Amino acid sequence: MNLSKSLSDIEPLSFPSIESGSPIVIAGPCSAESVQQTLDTARALSAIGVKVFRAGLWKPRTMPGSFEGVGDKGLQWLQAVKRKTGMMVATEVATVEHVRAALDAGIDILWIGARTTANPFAIQDIADQLQGHDEVTVLVKNPVNPDLDLWQGALLRFSNAGITRLGAVHRGFSSAGAHLYRNDPQWHIPFEMRRRAQGMTILCDPSHIGGKREYVESLSQLAMDVGFDGLMIESHCDPDHALSDSAQQITPHTLQTILNRLVIRSGAPVEDELSLLRQQIDDCDHELLAVLARRMSVSREIGRFKKAHNLRVVQPARYQDMINARLDEADSHGLSRSFIERVMQAIHEESVQQQLGLE
Ligand code: PEP
Ligand code: MN
Repeated sequence: MNLSKSLSDIEPLSFPSIESGSPIVIAGPCSAESVQQTLDTARALSAIGVKVFRAGLWKPRTMPGSFEGVGDKGLQWLQAVKRKTGMMVATEVATVEHVRAALDAGIDILWIGARTTANPFAIQDIADQLQGHDEVTVLVKNPVNPDLDLWQGALLRFSNAGITRLGAVHRGFSSAGAHLYRNDPQWHIPFEMRRRAQGMTILCDPSHIGGKREYVESLSQLAMDVGFDGLMIESHCDPDHALSDSAQQITPHTLQTILNRLVIRSGAPVEDELSLLRQQIDDCDHELLAVLARRMSVSREIGRFKKAHNLRVVQPARYQDMINARLDEADSHGLSRSFIERVMQAIHEESVQQQLGLE
């Protein structure tokens, strides 16, 4: 078996789209709840042009006692959606039993949920089960934790198992504390994924990032502006009464309004002006790197001094003063304090490493 596949070998997915040149749209309820709710939602979505229907059957819930999905019996409902609307159908799989049942039922697209992507044993079991099934499309959501390599590793396990119809879904990352969004987008992670896998289809799931229906439109537009290939959006015929993720689901009618208002930007760079601006970015980055190299060399100098005088490498009071001073300076440049705090923390961490590594 060829284990040397890389993400750059993954080819773009071709899904039927609403109209030619429009982004891929996968829509449907968080969970299939009843045959009625599944078919009502699917018919309404098909009527607005959606070609790929999603519905969770086996739901990985954080808390026991939440609605855990209807299980195998929902497979017939998805088959009915396929028969009656002609849409492709997608569901989440998390175990080999789910995979077997979904393949037997002819489900077109299997997606791997964020909690499963975080577990390489589970991913390998699922990939082994899918070996030889290159008719099926597999979409891998990012893991719950912001670990790009874990996401990449999961994609490679499927690629190594011979799955060629493979794509990724960005759904944000769990984080402690109160945040605007349910799952912190940390956009740099999908951007880096794009750099590593230029041809691979990467979708954005604004529903699970935002966690509230009022954020779906702006996050969808943002996803289009930064070059995602499409959207996976939760849509339910009666969102207020949904058995899971009620707050973030939108009606097919609202979805239609959002899709109609989406502005799709060109992927082709407008050469002259853009290349001048890119040149400026490159210049700034060269300066940044040169300054960082100089700063690290001063850090090593300090490290030698501390060692010679038997001083501790980390001096908390000095560190705190330094951070406070930089945050004040950030204000005067109109830079975000939280951004500068993260940058300074990363620089400080590296400078401590440099000092510790001195011979
Ligand atoms: C879902 O798509 O309904 C779901 C459970 O997603 P995630 O794995 O992103 O939480
Ligand atoms: Mn959901």
